[in-house]
This record gives sequence, structure tokens and C-alpha cells, in this order.
Amino acid sequence: MTKLYKTGKKSLFLIIILMVFITSGFIGAVPVKASTVSTAYFSVDGELIKSNYYMQNGHVMVPDLFFKHTGATVEKNTKYNSIAVVRNNFVALPLEKSYMDYYVKDKNKWVREYLATTTTVINNRPYIPLVVTAKKLGMNVTYDSKIRRTFIQTNTPEKPIAYEKANITEKKIALTFDDGPDKLITPQLLDILKEKEVAATFFVVGEQVSYFPQLSKRMVEEGHTIANHTWDHPQLSKLYTDDVVQQIRSTNEIIEKVTGVKATLFRPPYGDYTLADAIVFDRLGFKNIMWSVDTIDWSGNSAEEILSIVHRDKSPGGIVLQHNFQNSKLQGTVDALPQMIDQLRAEGYEFVTIDGLLK
Ligand SMILES: [Zn+2]
Repeated sequence: MTKLYKTGKKSLFLIIILMVFITSGFIGAVPVKASTVSTAYFSVDGELIKSNYYMQNGHVMVPDLFFKHTGATVEKNTKYNSIAVVRNNFVALPLEKSYMDYYVKDKNKWVREYLATTTTVINNRPYIPLVVTAKKLGMNVTYDSKIRRTFIQTNTPEKPIAYEKANITEKKIALTFDDGPDKLITPQLLDILKEKEVAATFFVVGEQVSYFPQLSKRMVEEGHTIANHTWDHPQLSKLYTDDVVQQIRSTNEIIEKVTGVKATLFRPPYGDYTLADAIVFDRLGFKNIMWSVDTIDWSGNSAEEILSIVHRDKSPGGIVLQHNFQNSKLQGTVDALPQMIDQLRAEGYEFVTIDGLLK
């Protein structure tokens, strides 16, 4: 401070102006208030993705994790305080700065590009420029002013499959139970399945496996398939890619430690995932398993309601979604199961695990 005083009032004024100029991102970028953030649909390879955005000096600014919908991995680099977006190419956007660094493969070097906008954190979410980032990653971006929509073509060669059911005509069907094991519902389901000689698929949560290793072992010992449903059930689209990988890896580690089985099936919590997440499941060697029959049992549906949904939506190759976490709302799941098995068998259905279904 003493140094500043010596330079006199005029210089001090100029220094302050200069500092405001630098921190505001050179070209008059004004700090954005959260109230100026709007929502819109963006077309990504023809799929409409709803996202927050705001405009700054002609730049469409989107939350960093929006880019996961384009298949790019998104990480926060704490060392450099920047957002890394990677897909074929590498783009780094330092927080609260008005430039991006990107890697040029053929020249084997990093290039800095100054922008008329600043990577800004709003409600703890970094916002990054959509168009320049997408272009650096080899995507095409166009804007249709008539319908006021941005179209992104990601040029992703092959997108991983999500299985909602198996494409077969034989009357095979798979029962699946998510979120366990727990000590209230799981033992009852295992008893019924054992008595009826039905093999099911359990998408387990890693943290629950750590609480109930014996029940996890019992699943495998009684012929069921044990599958990965993350460590603590987050919404994967809201996580950086490193955290997604960690959720899956830690869960597979405990499943293998407890049961000796290496799980190869994965179901994202809430069925929520982006293209980047799907690419991660695939890269880690997992099949992404959805469902074709949703019993909505977690809402407290009665056995009758669950049975009528299954009766309505069943089909050859179908995958039935049910749950087994500790909650009295799931009594319907337990009550419905013996009848569900008997009714489907009477119609000629055979029960298989997901591995059996997708063979
Ligand atoms: Zn779940």
C-alpha cells in the first residue's frame, strides 16, 4: 500500500481502472448476476437438452457439465483452477479468466485464445463459452434464428447402447432390484426367489454392500446376478467425470472383495446419464442397463398396483424395475413378488438374469 501512495492520486486512479479492466475480462465484460441466467433447449445430435445459459458479449455461456451431453469428459482441475473439457482434443478454461488454452495435436503445442467473455462461477457452477469450446473439440455448431435454437453436431462415431429390453421373441423376462442390500426388504425377497427358484439381478449400491456384506454374498450364492449401481446413488449428470469413474470403481471393488464377482452390468441411479457418462460405462467394460417395466414401487404402490403395471407392460425380453432399500413403502414389492412370479409363469414366461437375457 505504501508504494501506491507514493505514486500519487492520479496513478492510483489509473491503477484501479487498469485492475477493474483486467478482472472484468478486458473487453468490458460485466460480472453476471444469477438473475440473468435463463433456460433453453439445445439440440445435441437431434436430442433436445434443457440447460441454463446466459449471454455475454455475443457468447452463449453454459454450465461446464453441459458438455457431458456432447460426449466430452469434464473435470475441474484444482491445481490450475480451471475446467478441462476433453474429447479428441483438450480445452482448458481457467475460472474468472477471459481466455482458453487448447491443445493443437499436429503442432504438439498449447495455444492460448483470448475471448470477449469470462468463465464465471454462478451458484457454484462454472459457466463456459459454448460455441468456441465445441468447435475446438471438433463439433459443428449452428444457430437457427427463426426458431432461436442452437444445434450441436458432436460427430461422435459410435454411441454406446443402453438396454431397455432384449430384442427377442422367446418369453424370457428379467426381474431387477435396485439400491440394496438392506436388512428389511432384501432378505424377504431372497427367501421368495429361493422358494420359487427364480434368479434375479440385483443392482447394488456400494455403500450398502459395505454395510451388509453377508446379504451381498447370499445374492451370489443363490444364483442371482450382482450388478453395479454406484457407491451412494448420485445423479451422474451432475458429477465431474473423475467422480463418475470413482463411483463405479469403488462399488466394483467392494462387490469383488465381498463376493469374488467382477460385476459387468451397470445401471445409473434414476436412469440419469449423459453421453460422456455412457462412454465411461463402456470404457470401464459395463453394459448400461435400463428397464422396460417400471413398477414405481418406491412410491408406495400396493401389490395390486405393481401387478397390474407388470401385466400391462410385460413383453418377451422385458426388464422389470423394482427396489430393495429399507423403507416400509416397499412392502408392496414383497407382497407382489410371489404372485408376479406365478402369473408370469402361467403365461409361459421364463425368468432369467440380465446376463441370461442379453446373451
Ligand atoms: Zn437406484
